[in-house]
This record gives sequence, C-alpha cells and structure tokens, in this order.
Amino acid sequence: MILYKEKNALQKQLLALRAEGKKIGFVPTMGALHKGHLSLIAQSNQENDVTVCSIFVNPTQFNDPKDFEKYPVTLDNDVLQLERAGTAILFLPSVQEIYPDGTALKERYELGYLENILEGAYRPGHFQGVCQVVHRLLDIVQPHYLYLGQKDYQQVMVLKTLVQQKQLPVTIRVVPTSRETGGLAMSSRNMRLSNGERAHATAIYRALQNIRENLNRQPIEQLQQTAAHYLLQQGFEKVDYVAICHADTLLPATDADKAGPLVALTAAFIGPVRLIDNLLLQ
Ligand code: AMP
Repeated sequence: MILYKEKNALQKQLLALRAEGKKIGFVPTMGALHKGHLSLIAQSNQENDVTVCSIFVNPTQFNDPKDFEKYPVTLDNDVLQLERAGTAILFLPSVQEIYPDGTALKERYELGYLENILEGAYRPGHFQGVCQVVHRLLDIVQPHYLYLGQKDYQQVMVLKTLVQQKQLPVTIRVVPTSRETGGLAMSSRNMRLSNGERAHATAIYRALQNIRENLNRQPIEQLQQTAAHYLLQQGFEKVDYVAICHADTLLPATDADKAGPLVALTAAFIGPVRLIDNLLLQ
C-alpha cells in the first residue's frame, strides 16, 4: 500500500493509473476502521483495479465539538487492516491539505428537504459539511466508483444528490450494513461504549426488526412509538427519532404506503454515544 499525505503527489499517481486504463474505486472514511469499512474495500477491490481509501476526520461535518474531539483515532491499526485488505492507496491528508483556504463553506449545496429531516434536523450543517468534504475528495481522486455504506442511509441520498447536481463523473455503489453478532451495526463510535452499553445497544436492531415483522399488523405511528419506548426501556437515554419513510425519498410513510419500498431509521443515545441505524422493510 502506498500512503499519500499530499494531494498533488496522489493526483500524479492516479493520473498515470488512469492513463493505463485502470479502474479506480474510492472508499472515503474517517478512520477507526472496522469490518464494515473493510467490506467497502473488498467490494471496491472486486470491481476495480485500484482501490483508494481516504482517512480524514472532517471537522466541518461535526455539529457537536465534543463528538469531534472524542472521535476515535486508531491509525496504526487502520493502516494494518487496510494493508491486509489489499488496499492499493491510502490518502491521509491534513486539514490544511483539504481546506487550504480555511474550513468555511464556499458554496451552499442545494439539498432541499433532505437537509432538514432526520439527521439533518438533529445535526444542523452536518450534510453541508459532508458534501463539502466529499466534493473535494472526489475532485482530488476522480474515481470511477464511489463506495458508501447503507448504514448512513440519508448520507447516501445526500451524496447521490451532490453527484447529480454537480454532474460528477462517478458511479455510487451502496454496500449493505455489516453487523456484530446480535445485530449491532458496526460503527467507529461503538469503540466508545462500555461492555454493558454495547450489550444494551443491540436493542436498536431488535427495535428495527420488530417494525419489519409487524409492519402489516400495526399502524405506522404505533410502530414508531413502540420502537422508541422499547429503546428507552432497554437503556437508551434519549431517542432522537424512529421514523418509517419511503425508501426512495425519505419522506414520511403513511399507512396507505405499506406496499411500497419503505425504510425504518433511528438515532438514539446510549451513554454518551449517539448511534444511528436503519433497516429496509421489504
Ligand atoms: P465513516 O468512517 O463512519 O465516515 O464511514 C465511512 C464509510 O463506511 C461510509 O460510507 C459508511 O456508511 C460506511 N460504513 C460505516 N459503518 C458501516 C457498516 N457497519 N457497514 C457498512 N458500511 C459502513
């Protein structure tokens, strides 16, 4: 694996690879890598000649400064895992390298209602920051394929909007969520959970599964409320939302919509950590 800290050197190398006709897959991450990230790398390796992974904890997408400060950093282990997974290139830029003119947003991205619902409602500015960094990274790497996890369902929709609006020449591939035994979605933030909290956190998956199992038996409103109560009962301190939405638009579903493709999404706090998860209901 070759490690680049500077975009110019990386771009030179990628230019040469593209000139040789190599297909380039890109997996942007914030590090603290786990098997979920590695599943993105594996799919990229299958579909491309070269996989570029970036590790960059993007300050502009954290609406909560404490969350940014406490974001886990496990660089040595990340490098080891990426090497073992057969990653060709790791891009490890500094904040200065990505934002040479400062981190202030230069342009607002037009994300419409997507920006203000669910994660957007609880994390103001988050998706602007996500678009800002991914737009820059895509400009630098110019991959053929961009690999994203279904775990961050709304993020995928936001980035599809970015790619469409800016007409970026890249195809998005969405990779299913990797889970621990017990169903907890793998996440870098899980590292901050105590053993006890981690055991309780599996309730998030059971709550979503319960929605899927009872979708045709109970009204949407009741399913959402039952799931939120269950999470609180199982040790979650605060539930930001449990929402059943149209899978294609993320607009709220009604009882008349149950035949269509739906997705259940939730965000809730266990201990100091905010976890998100989702499950397709069909
Ligand atoms: P992050 O480092 O959390 O920004 O995540 C980098 C990429 O990995 C994003 O596209 C995430 O959606 C994806 N990802 C994170 N957790 C998982 C998981 N458990 N399964 C699959 N993909 C994931």
